[in-house]
Amino acid sequence: MSEAGAGVLGLLGGTFDPLHVGHLRLALEAREALGLSALCLIPAGSPPLRALPHCAATQRLAMVECALAGLPGFSVDPGEVLAAAQSMAPSYTVATLERQRRQHGARRPLVLLLGADAFARLESWQRWRELFGLAHIAVATRPGHDIKVGAGDTALAAEFAARRGIAADLAAAPAGRIVPFAITALEISATAIRERLARGLSVRYLVPDPVLDYIESRQLYRTPHGH
Ligand code: ATP
Repeated sequence: MSEAGAGVLGLLGGTFDPLHVGHLRLALEAREALGLSALCLIPAGSPPLRALPHCAATQRLAMVECALAGLPGFSVDPGEVLAAAQSMAPSYTVATLERQRRQHGARRPLVLLLGADAFARLESWQRWRELFGLAHIAVATRPGHDIKVGAGDTALAAEFAARRGIAADLAAAPAGRIVPFAITALEISATAIRERLARGLSVRYLVPDPVLDYIESRQLYRTPHGH
C-alpha cells in the first residue's frame, strides 16, 4: 500500500492527566466526521505553556494505553513521553509532527486534532506556522467552544481564512487545511476529575473502566496538585 493509500491519519495530543471519556468521544467523532482511517493519541511529555502535570508522563501514557488496548484503529505514540524521560525539555507539537511525518512519509495525509480552545492559542506555539506544512488541522467545536481567531487581522485569522476547508479536502493533500468539525458537548475536563478525586469523590463513568482501575489501584490524584 502506498503512503497516501494508508488513508488519513488523525493525531490527538493531550496531557491526558488523566484520559477521560471526553477525549475518547473526541477521537471517535473525529474519525467518523473526518473519515480518518486511524487515530493516534500522543500523550505530552513535558507540556509547555501549562502547569506541570499531576501524574508522571509514564503513568499518563499507561492510562492511555490501557484505555485503548484492543480498540481497532486506535494507537498510542509514546514518543513525547520517551523523550521526556531523556530530557526535561518541553515537548513541542511541531517536533512531534516532524517525527510523525518522517515515520509516515511525505504523502500520507496527517490531521492534527485540536479543541477550539487550543486552536485559539495557536500563535503562542513554537514555530506555529510550520505546523501547516506538516499536517492538516481539524478543530473540534462544541457549544460554548466555537472557533475564535482574534479580531479580524490576527495572523491566525488570516491563516484560517486562507486554509479553511471541509472533511473531503483532507485526503486530497498531505497537509495544509484547517477543517472545523462539530462534536457532542461533554462538559468533562481532567481538571474537574482531579478535583473530584482529591475530594474522595467517584469518577466512574467519567473515565473508562481500565483507567478507573489504574487510578484506584495506585491511589492517584488523592492529594491536590503539589502536595
Ligand atoms: P485539563 O483539564 O487538565 O486542562 P483536558 O481535559 O482539557 O485537561 P487535555 O489533555 O488538555 O485534557 O486535552 C487534550 C485535547 O482534548 C485538547 O485538544 C482538548 O481541547 C480536548 N478535550 C478535552 N476535554 C474535552 C471534552 N470534554 N470534549 C472534547 N474535547 C476535549
